[in-house]
This record gives sequence, C-alpha cells and structure tokens, in this order.
Amino acid sequence: MPSSLAKHQDILKLPAPKKPWPKISRRVGIHTSSAGGVENAAERAWRLGCTAFQVFSSSPRQWKPYELGKSQCDVMRRLREKYDLKPLVIHANYLINLAGTTSRFHSRSIEAFRGEVERALALCAEYLVLHPGSYRGGSREEGLARAAQAIAVATHEYDLAKGGLTVLIENTAGAEFSLGSSFDQVAELIERLRGIIPVAACIDTCHVHVAGYDIVSEEGMQQTIRYLDLAIGLKNIPVWHCNDAKAARGSKLDRHQHIGKGTIGLEPFRRLLSDPRLAHAAFIAETPIDEPGDDLRNVSTLRSLTPPLAPEQSAKPRRGR
Ligand SMILES: [Zn+2]
Ligand SMILES: [Zn+2]
Repeated sequence: MPSSLAKHQDILKLPAPKKPWPKISRRVGIHTSSAGGVENAAERAWRLGCTAFQVFSSSPRQWKPYELGKSQCDVMRRLREKYDLKPLVIHANYLINLAGTTSRFHSRSIEAFRGEVERALALCAEYLVLHPGSYRGGSREEGLARAAQAIAVATHEYDLAKGGLTVLIENTAGAEFSLGSSFDQVAELIERLRGIIPVAACIDTCHVHVAGYDIVSEEGMQQTIRYLDLAIGLKNIPVWHCNDAKAARGSKLDRHQHIGKGTIGLEPFRRLLSDPRLAHAAFIAETPIDEPGDDLRNVSTLRSLTPPLAPEQSAKPRRGR
C-alpha cells in the first residue's frame, strides 16, 4: 500500500523533465498521489516516467468521498492525452468489504463501491481494482456469492461497458478469511460476474509470492503463469501490480518492497515484463516510499526491465506524401 505523501518529496515541487521520456515497449507506472486534486496525479505520473498510472479517487482510509468537479475530469483527460498515459487505474478504498457478514458494514461497503464506480466513470478510467474481501463469520462459498451479489447491486444503475470501465478483481496475500489468494477464487468471482459487468483480474506479484506460488525460479514462474492462464486466462489480466515482497514466500504477509530489493528479486520482474504473452498488460508498482525519490527509482527500474522496442514501435512517424 502506498505511504503518505508527507514522507516524501513531491515530484511537482521539482523542475519538470526538459525532454520527453524515451519510448518503451510496455506500459509501466506507479500508484500516484492525487494530493491537490486527481488531475495533479497525471502530471506527477508523467514526471515520474510513467506511461500508465493508478490513483485513489478518494482518500483510501476514509469513507467520505469527495466530489469530483467536471473541470477536474476534463483537465485529467487532456493531460492523459498530452502525456500518453494509458490506462488509468483506480484502486478502490481498502475499507470496502463486499464479502462481509455484518449487515451495516456490508451496506456501507456497497454504497462506497457505488461511489468508486461513479467516480471511475467520471474520470474515464479504464479499470477499477477491487479486493474481493473477507468472509469472516461465514463460509468461503458464501463470501464469494455475497461479493458477486454486492458488486452486481453496486453497479446496477451504471453502464460500465459504455463508459469503457472494467472492474478488476485483485488476488490477495491470503490472510485468514480473505478471499482471492488462489487464482481459482479470483476466477470464480469473475465467472459469477461475467455477463453482468465487464470484469477481469489484476494480479499482484507480492500477493502471488506470499500466497505461496513460485515466481522466483524460472521454472516456477513458468508454472505459475501456466496456472494463471488455465484459471483466469492471461488475456484477462490487463493490469499487474509489480511489488517485491518483504516477507517470505508462503508467509501470507502483505508487505510490499522496492522492486528487486525483496524476497522476489529483480530477475522475476524482468521475465514478467519481457513475456510476450503479457505485452498487452500495464505493470504498476505499489511500492513504499521510505526515502525521497523512491517512486522515481521504482518507475525507472520498471522502465529498465522492459524489452527493447520492436523496430516498428521505435520508427519515427513518417510524413505522408
Ligand atoms: Zn496490489
Ligand atoms: Zn498488497
């Protein structure tokens, strides 16, 4: 989870890059602060070297959403076009639990998720990432059914397909009662929602690793990618969260680390970003900010792991005759 802006140097306070960033062969980015308004996030993302980005559309730890003004959305759109930032991913509030058994909390969660959908549509975001929730107090099966039902209720009055918005179910670290630590559970939730809303998956490398899958060895990574393809389908994963892990494989502890500095290490990320089967996806870091510049460094690392541009990608557009 991204830490507060207070700890780090705001990239907006530094001089803007003088030249455009070199073209790269993959979409990469980082969870970006939207302090001062969501449109500031686009400016920050570009300055950090992103070609895709993720934001919260309201404060992640609070229930009360703020209203998005129309002008804010227009500015956001213009900036995204100017800087070629695509996709825009919104991460839903962490407090939302659509699988829960406490009825008051459950209805508040549905209400909050409805707000997330509304704001994601208003911002013309491509994706809205959601954790499937905790089924504490009930069974896993009931939890999955409740989450699917709640998502259907919360999205009922909106046309997501028309707005170009897809809900992404994120795999989780596997803490007790949490849904979604296995690819099958993510797939099951997607299956239940198919035909109701546009839905796909967001896969987080830290969560995959601490949930027990092997992505560290080359063979393990290939096996895990095969599992993913069988359960969910690689084409149904438009966003990867690229986070290294502080904790050991299988520990179920969700602590993100800088890319290449944790128990996963750099090479698995290189394999992930180089895999042609994943070339359609965006790779977004949610790494901590321990020191000023950590955001810039993690984006730079992701950029450096992208394979060279294919000749047709790097060709300068020729003037028509
Ligand atoms: Zn994540
Ligand atoms: Zn996490």
